[in-house]
Amino acid sequence: MPGRTATESSPTSSEPASWSELVGHQRIEKWFATAIRQRRLSGSFLIVGSPGIGKQTMANLLARTLLCESSEPSDMEPCGVCEACVQVNAGTHPDVIRVSKPADKSTLPLELLIGPPDARMQEGFCRDVRTKPLRGKRKVAILEDADFLNEEGANCLLKTLEEPPPGTIVLLIGTSEQKQLPTIRSRCRIIRLGPLTIEDAMRLLREVHHVTASDQQIRDAVEISGGDMHAAERLLNDESDELRQSFTAQLESPHPDPVKLKGIISRHVDEAGKEASKRRAAMRDVFSISVQHFRRRLRNEAMENRSQPLTLARLDRSVRALREVDRSANQATLIECFSADIAAGTTGDRGEIG
Ligand SMILES: [Zn+2]
Repeated sequence: MPGRTATESSPTSSEPASWSELVGHQRIEKWFATAIRQRRLSGSFLIVGSPGIGKQTMANLLARTLLCESSEPSDMEPCGVCEACVQVNAGTHPDVIRVSKPADKSTLPLELLIGPPDARMQEGFCRDVRTKPLRGKRKVAILEDADFLNEEGANCLLKTLEEPPPGTIVLLIGTSEQKQLPTIRSRCRIIRLGPLTIEDAMRLLREVHHVTASDQQIRDAVEISGGDMHAAERLLNDESDELRQSFTAQLESPHPDPVKLKGIISRHVDEAGKEASKRRAAMRDVFSISVQHFRRRLRNEAMENRSQPLTLARLDRSVRALREVDRSANQATLIECFSADIAAGTTGDRGEIG
């Protein structure tokens, strides 16, 4: 199927079928309900928020609400069982256009947007948005991974975003507003999914992701992950518990062993498999634990009126490592430098070279 690639975020049968299962964004849900009831829901939207917070869920619920064949959109109650709902769920509805970044690419490929070089504008997202709906009365176009649009890709989209055909809605999904190019931002209505309260985060992890952990474990995971609910979920599985224990034991030691640190991190990253995005996520988890660890230690030291430049340097280094994950081409070097710097207690600021 052109313009469609499988990612972990593709809809699955476990997707919630009703709006009541969207956790924590009732104000936005109400806004959409009103817009649908007043028949003024159209145009282009940029949905932004932390990973795992409900952006995909919201887009899929909107698609089902608008395309369900046994309920009115204004009811906001897609049945979940009619053919249209089932097709939206399975990712096969002909009027739902969906593109996402292939795992092995660093940006959204141009050909997913405007077709391959020998068939420009005859295939791809922009063309699919323009063609007539095949099954229903409208189209829902979902562009996942808007964070990874480069300038060229964004330029191809501008016209589509400015004037989608009547009734068609275009939903761009990204993790933050800042990551979007100004040309994109200015052409979309921005829907911000704010951070979840701890109660909502617990509900989401327990009821939607079926996590079985104690309140305190969930609180810790949510704090470490900084609101990234996918990361929180990863941190709550058993293997991560082992990682955290051996890793924090090193961080707590007065003289962390760089070889052991490197070994622990590399093993954890290797366990994530070969796919670059999964390896990066695993690295981000490790560095998040480190940031959290030194932040806590710094807080405790401040309370005891002890200032510890070593802790500050290690915290700095961890924050830097977290930022480097997405930029770094060489993960092995990143892990090695991080381990050496944490052991030595230096910030590892090598300017542009490091
Ligand atoms: Zn339905």
